[in-house]
Amino acid sequence: MERCPNCSARWDGGSACRRCDMALEDLIAVEQAAERSLANGIAHLAIADVHAASRDLARALGLQRTPFAEQLLGFVRRLEQEPADSDHVIQQLSPPSDEKSTTRGVRRLAAAVLRALTPRANRSPGR
Ligand SMILES: [Zn+2]
Repeated sequence: MERCPNCSARWDGGSACRRCDMALEDLIAVEQAAERSLANGIAHLAIADVHAASRDLARALGLQRTPFAEQLLGFVRRLEQEPADSDHVIQQLSPPSDEKSTTRGVRRLAAAVLRALTPRANRSPGR
């Protein structure tokens, strides 16, 4: 959360808005649950458990809609629909390499995704 949903004051990391005093604990808990589901989805993708990843990402999106989770779920659903062709899908997204197995390809993708996520997670709430 970057801003209070009630008054748009910048969030200072506290459990209540510094300007309007609205209680933010429940919203923060939902956001954290969404982040956990997203992390679970990436972890399942890393072990090539596509169906579990799809379930986790759908849950994350139900709690909090973000472009990243939407795009990742779209990718995972493509993998679900074309399981026999998943190596091909991953090769389209990754540079050519000698890693032919789906599991390794997905691990590489998940590592790239985690690297992309890390700066965001470390950013301060006020930016
Ligand atoms: Zn407020």
